[in-house]
Formats: sequence, structure tokens, C-alpha cells
Amino acid sequence: MKIEDIKKDMVDKLNAMSAEELLKWAFDNFGDRAAIGTSFQLTGTVIIDLASKYTKRFRVFTIDTLRLHPETYDAIKAAEKKYGLKIERFTPDGSALKNMLDRFGEYLFFMDKAKQEYCCMVRKVEPNKRALKTLNVWITGLRKDQSDYRKTVEKAAIIEEDGRKILKLSPLADWDMAKIWQCIKENNLPYNKLFDMGYDSIGCIICSTPLVKGEPLRAGRWRWFNKQDDKKECGIHTTGSIK
Ligand code: SF4
Repeated sequence: MKIEDIKKDMVDKLNAMSAEELLKWAFDNFGDRAAIGTSFQLTGTVIIDLASKYTKRFRVFTIDTLRLHPETYDAIKAAEKKYGLKIERFTPDGSALKNMLDRFGEYLFFMDKAKQEYCCMVRKVEPNKRALKTLNVWITGLRKDQSDYRKTVEKAAIIEEDGRKILKLSPLADWDMAKIWQCIKENNLPYNKLFDMGYDSIGCIICSTPLVKGEPLRAGRWRWFNKQDDKKECGIHTTGSIK
């Protein structure tokens, strides 16, 4: 199937599918041109396991910002071992990283939102763009209940990325944390141990912190910006859908 063949009625049908049906459809129709992108949140853990029930050969990629928590690197290794996968790692461009560090230092993300977004652009967004060039179907772990900003996440949407159309799937868009934990426990899945330490959303060291009881789900990300708004995004998921 070609991405151009996917019209609105097909997108509507995909939006009505279960997570399992959506993953099967993606890998059946696009093979290696479909890939799961994960930063080893719990949703990524579940999506990889659901995919493994249909096929032994599926692509998974992660953005290694070079500032991940040791527990996240452990989770990557554990998933590779359990599923016999080689998880593709996309890292920051060396010269862009050096230029940023020379200008602003390692901790520029504390300065203001623009510098945080610049750091995320160099360490996450640009490597993610490189990953997206290798695929037509991008499978993510986004969920509606993560923040006000993410309430409108759809299970299936056509997005435009550098002039190309990509089908972006979020199979767990409607799942809540209780259902995700149930799936992890019932299937004894290896997961990122930061979730046992109070974290609810995982990114880089310093920029992701554990939640205090009662805080919104993404309050632990860049928490020094919490008083501004809850549009706390690294830029990977801010591309709008085109209908
Ligand atoms: S999460 Fe923090 S360290 Fe990681 S890329 Fe974004 S601003 Fe930089």
C-alpha cells in the first residue's frame, strides 16, 4: 500500500480499530516502512509487546539524546533481549551538538523555553526527522489523557513532515494508566524502572523528574516551566495533522 492511497474514509476506519488491529494492519500493509518510535515510556513497552504477538519482524527505533537515564538504557537492552530485536538508535548530529554546547553550555534548558526547545531540536527533533525519513507509518505511544494539549490525539492521522505525508498511529490513544499497568503486570513485561521511582513521563536526565502526588501527568517534565502552561513538548509531536 502507498501512503497516497490512504484517504479520509480509511483514516476513519483506522481510528475505529483496537490497538491490536491497528498494529497488525500497519505491519501487514507497510512492513519495514512502519516502525514503532519509543522513548521507553510504559506505552512503548506495551506497543512493542502487542506487535510481537503478530510478527517477529518489526522495526523499533528510539532517539538517544545522549542524556538518557541509565534506567532507560537498561530498558532498551531488556526489550532487545526479550524480543530478539535490534532497536535502532538515532543520536544528535555531532556538529550541531558541539555548536549548541559551545554557545550555551550543557544546561541551556534552564534558561528559557526557547533554549529548551533548541536543545530538544538538536538532541531529539532532528534525529527523529532522520528516523521519519526511513518510514511511511510512525507508531507512537501518545495518549489523550497525558495533558490538555494532548486531548485531541487521534489513533490515526496523516501528517506532513518535510513535504512528505506520513501516517501517524497512536494505538493507545484511548488507554489510561490503569489499563497500561494491567497489561504490563499480566504479561510480566520488562519496563523502565524509573516508573517504580515516581516518574510518570520519561525524557532526559534533569528534564524529567518524579511526580509529587496529585500533580498532572506531565508535571515532572521541565518542571521549572510548570507555572507557564502544560504545552510542555520537545517538538517531536507538535506537527499538526492534515485531514
Ligand atoms: S529533554 Fe532536556 S536535555 Fe533532553 S533534549 Fe530536551 S531540553 Fe535537552
